Amino acid sequence: MPRRLLAALLPVLVSLTAPASPPAPVPDKVVVLTFDDASASHHAIARPLLQRLGFGATFFITEGFTFRTNKRDYLTWEQIAELHRDGFEIGNHTRDHLGITEKNVPRLAEQLEAIATRCREHGIPAPVSFAWPGNKFHASALPVLEAAGIRFARRGGEPEVPYAKGGGIPYEPGVDHPLLIPTTADARPVWTLDHVKAAVAQARDGRIAVLQFHGVPDGEHPWVNTPRERFEEYMLWLKETGCTVIALRDIARFTAGRPAPADPMSAINHRLQAAAAVEVQRAAPGSAPRASSKAGASASK
Ligand SMILES: [Zn+2]
Repeated sequence: MPRRLLAALLPVLVSLTAPASPPAPVPDKVVVLTFDDASASHHAIARPLLQRLGFGATFFITEGFTFRTNKRDYLTWEQIAELHRDGFEIGNHTRDHLGITEKNVPRLAEQLEAIATRCREHGIPAPVSFAWPGNKFHASALPVLEAAGIRFARRGGEPEVPYAKGGGIPYEPGVDHPLLIPTTADARPVWTLDHVKAAVAQARDGRIAVLQFHGVPDGEHPWVNTPRERFEEYMLWLKETGCTVIALRDIARFTAGRPAPADPMSAINHRLQAAAAVEVQRAAPGSAPRASSKAGASASK
């Protein structure tokens, strides 16, 4: 019998001694689709289209702005629960749409819990994804997010790309801290399909394009409005192009087994230094110092 016992135990022993399985390689054309601010259009317009196309997405919920009284422009909690039951991810965007600064970090835990409580009341699990309201972030808030069970947090394209440009950078699993995931492009009224194409073109070589939408359309936040026709055009193009469109939580398959960077700001600082070095070279070609040329080389990867 010992041999039979050994045979039975062998798979257990192997699994105990084998290293953790490596993260899945990131294929090209992976797009994380995110929607901010609980716009009523997320249920009325985005929901049926995304269901038809088989897309995943994350809807970041806040009770800020006029959410409580204006049900023409904002989702109801019943609609949010329906989005969850459809298989979409419900993310946390703080109760009051609190733009995080170093000074107000002590208020963040309560802001997160308020949305998590609402979720539980409506049969939705407490969110594991978060979007920094107003795309403002501060590294001192990361322990608060972790304590609240947040695994992934999306910021904007800043500081690498100024907000006015509406662009950003692709997310690099294992390089970017999972609580400081950059937006690759956030939709503006002036967008055309070319903006979407430019963002998705960066979803290659282990990088992921993270798209940020507000209302589709958004009468309450006209500066980030996406007309319905444009939105439908963008989504159909993603489908035709063969993109894998997922919720933010779904990146877990690409981060599993990867330790978060010890310095959360390391990826951001490296990109800023590389960009500054490129500027130095541009201003004085041929006279680049050693450190600049090294940083510039890594920036052009
Ligand atoms: Zn927001």
